[in-house]
Amino acid sequence: MVGSGDAFGSGGRFQTCIALGPDDGNAHTLVDCGATSLVALREQGFDPNAIETVLITHLHGDHFGGLPFLVLDGQFRRRTTDLTVVGPPGTERRLAEAMEVFFPGSSTVRRRFEVRVVEHRDRAPFSTERFTAVPFEVRHASGAPAYALRVQDADGAARVAYSGDTEWTDALLAAAEGTDVFLCEGYTPAPVRWHLDLGTLGEHRDRFDTRRMILTHLSPTALSADLSGWETAHDGLVVRV
Ligand SMILES: [Zn+2]
Ligand SMILES: [Zn+2]
Repeated sequence: MVGSGDAFGSGGRFQTCIALGPDDGNAHTLVDCGATSLVALREQGFDPNAIETVLITHLHGDHFGGLPFLVLDGQFRRRTTDLTVVGPPGTERRLAEAMEVFFPGSSTVRRRFEVRVVEHRDRAPFSTERFTAVPFEVRHASGAPAYALRVQDADGAARVAYSGDTEWTDALLAAAEGTDVFLCEGYTPAPVRWHLDLGTLGEHRDRFDTRRMILTHLSPTALSADLSGWETAHDGLVVRV
């Protein structure tokens, strides 16, 4: 868990970023890449140039805004590994726009590596030699469809899912089904539009078929609420499956 905070640095936490990889700590895949993620990766000892794939749940800055920094860092640090970004419909355009806003000219410069963008189709698997990811459309306004993601490693030994940001939808049950770990937004104690609150999640908790649910994307009010009975994420948390 590279970043477990909300968009605004709740509790001093980094924005959403989940690193996937083997036990030796060399992450090859990120799930979401918030604006703070390059800093968080460096702080936690990950090599950004080793990231091959970034899976994006939705096009809010705290979930995809770190991509321009990741791409430019690769350019300046002589990255040669291609980078694949898999995100909602519109990701290719939004990424180019974000790069041009932050670093004019950066979206069209020639590099030693390719940045390939693949856009999700609801419940259509995307596979690499390392894993298969399936997006489940959820309910969160972000200028494009938003998704929960389920990722299963290539030999089928580990299955993890992440809710992204969303208000309640039964699609979360499908995304989490049969997983070892389900990382779930626990944004606030009380309901707030387009997000998942602890009360609503508690009502549905017994319906989830997952071995372990861990709350993330906690706001300051959630962090100061009674979280007994919940497992919560923190920056730097390592989960072995
Ligand atoms: Zn968010
Ligand atoms: Zn969001």
